[in-house]
Amino acid sequence: MKIALIAHDRKKQDMIQLATAYQDILKKHELFATGTTGLKIMEATDLSIVRLQSGPLGGDQQIGALIAKNEIDLVIFLRDPLTAQPHEPDVSALIRLSDVYSIPLATNMGTAEILIRSLEEGAFEFRKLVHGRDQDA
Ligand code: PGA
Repeated sequence: MKIALIAHDRKKQDMIQLATAYQDILKKHELFATGTTGLKIMEATDLSIVRLQSGPLGGDQQIGALIAKNEIDLVIFLRDPLTAQPHEPDVSALIRLSDVYSIPLATNMGTAEILIRSLEEGAFEFRKLVHGRDQDA
């Protein structure tokens, strides 16, 4: 599966914890992240990640474009609900596109853990049917 990982600044530690705890699951998948989130995860783990632009510089829009091309199967977006973001329109657009394409989207740690665990249980097999994909990634 293709997984997008994004965390606002005050949620980056949570994302690092998540990626570290679930490294064995995540390493079986193709990972994409906004610039700083991806860098921090790669510094803390052995995961390899396709890094896009930093979120405020267009990274959220790049992930949105991948979703629009049906190239993302799961989005983990640890948002900071208590801080105004300069790129709020991009954040909203990314979430909107996830809904347009029915892409599973976690915006907090609780949902993120459930979705990552469900990857192991085959819950995402329907995504292969959606795309006619038969490869593991
Ligand atoms: P960043 O972007 O990973 O480059 O910090 C995340 C965001 O703020 O959308």
